[in-house]
Amino acid sequence: MEERNLICINCPMGCPLTVTLNDAGEVVSVTGNTCPRGEAYGRKEVTNPTRIVTSSLPVSGAKGQIAMVSVKTASDIPKGAIFDVVRDMKGLVVEAPVHIGDVVKADIAGTGVDLVATRDVE
Ligand code: SF4
Repeated sequence: MEERNLICINCPMGCPLTVTLNDAGEVVSVTGNTCPRGEAYGRKEVTNPTRIVTSSLPVSGAKGQIAMVSVKTASDIPKGAIFDVVRDMKGLVVEAPVHIGDVVKADIAGTGVDLVATRDVE
């Protein structure tokens, strides 16, 4: 048996979780959670941790003073791929106009997930 102590990051409560795994690495129990989301997070975090990556990128040709656009991965990516995604974003410049949901870079870092804009820049 192995115990891992985590903090649930799904809401500001930040519940302290204890995830117990058996010798085969399977989750036996999650305790410390106040709601079901915490149990789901604890199970996923020790077996297949993922994150949404957010950042901002420069925009060329913008009409106004705003010359940056916020972006995020369209869905979770494996936690181990975060630095690959950040590396793949380096040097990217987005052409104006760009709108919420526009794909800024498809299949970022070969994750199979697109990088999308989260604001409009005309
Ligand atoms: S277990 Fe539920 S209440 Fe606690 S931090 Fe996670 S989401 Fe919030």
